[in-house]
Amino acid sequence: MNNELDKDALCPMPVLALRGLVMFPNMVMHFDVGRKKSVAALNKAMQENQRIFLVAQRDIRDDDPSFEQLYKVGVVAEIRQILKMPSDTLKVVVEGLYRAKVRQKGELEPYLTAQVVQYPCRKSRTDDQVYVDALMRAIKALFEEYMMLSPRMPKDVVMSIMSCENPANLVEHIAGNIVLKYQDKQQILEESNIIRRLEMLSVILENENSVLSVEQEINEKVKEQLDRNQREYVLREQIRIINSELNDSDNPAVEAETYHEKIRKLHLKEEVEKKLLEEVNHLSKLPNNSHEAGVIRGYLDTCLDLPWNTSTKDKVDIQKARAVLDRDHYGLEKVKDRIIEALAVRQLVPELKGQILCLVGPPGVGKTSIAKSIAQCMGRKYVRVSLGGVRDESDIRGHRKTYIGAMPGRIINALRQAKSNNPLILLDEIDKMGNDFRGDPASAMLEVLDSEQNVAFRDHYIEVPFDISDAFFITTANTLDTIPAPLLDRMDVIHLYTYTREEKFHIAKEHLLQKQMKKHGLLSKTFKLNDDALYVLIDNYVRESGVRQLERMIAALCRKAAKKLVAKECKKVTVTAKNIEEFLGPKKYKVEPLLSRDEVGVATGLAWTSVGGETMPIEVSVVDGSGRLELTGSLGDVMKESAKAAITYIRSRAEKLHIDKDFYKNKDIHIHVPEGAIPKDGPSAGITMASALISALSNVPIKRDVAMTGEITLRGRVLAIGGLKEKTMAAYACGMKTVIIPQDNLPDLAEVTPVVKEHIRFVPAQNMDDVLHEVLAQVPPCEEPQKEPLMPPPAQAQGQTQALPI
Ligand code: ADP
Repeated sequence: MNNELDKDALCPMPVLALRGLVMFPNMVMHFDVGRKKSVAALNKAMQENQRIFLVAQRDIRDDDPSFEQLYKVGVVAEIRQILKMPSDTLKVVVEGLYRAKVRQKGELEPYLTAQVVQYPCRKSRTDDQVYVDALMRAIKALFEEYMMLSPRMPKDVVMSIMSCENPANLVEHIAGNIVLKYQDKQQILEESNIIRRLEMLSVILENENSVLSVEQEINEKVKEQLDRNQREYVLREQIRIINSELNDSDNPAVEAETYHEKIRKLHLKEEVEKKLLEEVNHLSKLPNNSHEAGVIRGYLDTCLDLPWNTSTKDKVDIQKARAVLDRDHYGLEKVKDRIIEALAVRQLVPELKGQILCLVGPPGVGKTSIAKSIAQCMGRKYVRVSLGGVRDESDIRGHRKTYIGAMPGRIINALRQAKSNNPLILLDEIDKMGNDFRGDPASAMLEVLDSEQNVAFRDHYIEVPFDISDAFFITTANTLDTIPAPLLDRMDVIHLYTYTREEKFHIAKEHLLQKQMKKHGLLSKTFKLNDDALYVLIDNYVRESGVRQLERMIAALCRKAAKKLVAKECKKVTVTAKNIEEFLGPKKYKVEPLLSRDEVGVATGLAWTSVGGETMPIEVSVVDGSGRLELTGSLGDVMKESAKAAITYIRSRAEKLHIDKDFYKNKDIHIHVPEGAIPKDGPSAGITMASALISALSNVPIKRDVAMTGEITLRGRVLAIGGLKEKTMAAYACGMKTVIIPQDNLPDLAEVTPVVKEHIRFVPAQNMDDVLHEVLAQVPPCEEPQKEPLMPPPAQAQGQTQALPI
């Protein structure tokens, strides 16, 4: 061997620069060789004695390193095998023989050569032996730990390391086989002192172990997370496949998975998603056909059906909106203007939420259909929520799902029905909402309409908050009186009034008739309703403020016509004023002339009801008796008190009115207000009762064509009343010529329909004397100065007719 070494030392040996690798003695290693110089060096070695000096280069980026760029210490190795690879590279297997160091640099071209000498480790001193043994033991222990952390080494290598007794070999063996930076490996290779080498390796191993254990910890965590996700994914996938194979929707796991998937797809807010997933979890633990499972299934289905993130895009063309409103509705100019204004504001300030319109007016004047048109011109879904008769808070907010038959409230149901979270919700008949011991629905309604609170509206059934602030709320009411003030406060009120005869005619002709004909499959060549027949329909078949009944009557006509056509009784049906009774039967309301003469004790009052204005005759009869007062006709307390106030006023003015001042002792008075079965109340009949009483007591007739409205005080002052527009329309409809109104109501005349103003003379009254002056047919009994009427007498008398039930 020594001879061989000497030979090696004498002749220059090919040098192969290793990139990022360090070779150790007694180690078999394979690597690829591609650089020209390296290939030439290998070839040369193969031609000689197959020995080559392997030395690491300092910087792996150097492609053609010179001696300065190589370390000094390397290993002389024997080439065991060379394989030519297709890409002109060689795969080499070498075995390290001994550590060596460059003694003399040789050629640079065509490959590096150098004279090298063996560089053996210095033997340790015998008294250091114990320390060396200890170090070796420690290193083996560290290596064992290393193996636990990085168990990638072949078993035979491990065995040979663990059984190695030579300290120098041990170090080289370990350093050659573990993953280390090449600089560290080179440092170990260069170190000749055994003890220092051992110490160096133990520090490196110690370090390596701690890095590896941290790395392992991180890996474990990542793996754990990955495993969990992977596992879940795989399980779910399996369930899905099993489900589709078996078509087994009854399996709780399958069901839970289906719910899971649906919930995830909705991208809900964290709070909501958590709650729903909890319910699914709960469901999966319940027996399949238990009652509770049914409840939870119902709950989940309802929740998943809600439009959490579905909305429609608003159309914001004001001109088009107006066109839609005009197309669907005749007249109602002011109402349309107000609506367009509201829409314009919405367009300018889209984030302005909580604007709520309230359409107030008698039934059938188009509140609902206006709301529908608004939805259409805004491009929103339309849903109607009927609030009439709602007495229970849970109607609005739902019942907790634990109750049997629990359901969400009407608001959530409406959204579910709309399938969009920004529909137009029509809250119909908000004035008919009551309250009782079951809770106050109005306060729940407040939350619905309050833009601060409805961002997170809580339904008892749904339990999680739902944002309803994007919905556009429109309410309707017949009267504002019964709407709780805080609710009314939040609404923008738009009034719709009773239609006049002419308006009804136009609505019917231009809208209702076409609508019904289309519905009933009639064409203009098969069906015709003459104008005079339409007027008969309006005058004699319906009695209403709006046009709903009228529409029903037209529908009835269409039905009958359709029947005739189908039965081939004729080819075209024409309804005229003459033949209308053949279709609809006898007229329901006869057009009667006004009373044929002025009568004693009968005065015509004007009443306002939620369905519009009406005339209200009041009859008084006085007979000898003992001063009893009888009031009949379902009168309310306020009306009864009004009658008593009127009597007290008459007593105080008896002398001036030429009435027996003891009438309250020796006469029985009976006041009756037909129609007896309909309840009536309110103070506005005060002056009418007083007039009828005075007429009956003084035997002076009352003018048949004068109607009146006004409250009376004990001193005979006339106080203002409400609903003037509707009342005067009723007076006009039944052919009155004069209407006495309280002086304080004069400003309200501006609202009165023009056609009514044209035909009726309005007389303002400050006190009862003004009223009597106008209403009594003969010389007034009191000597008050005469009042100028507010308006000139009508130019032409309206048909003196009165529609009364037959
Ligand atoms: P409300 O909600 O006020 O009770 P609706 O909206 O239900 O009344 O109206 C009843 C019917 O009368 C509907 O078919 C409606 O289209 C029709 N209608 C009411 N007013 C008009 C109008 N001005 N022009 C056209 N149709 C009308």
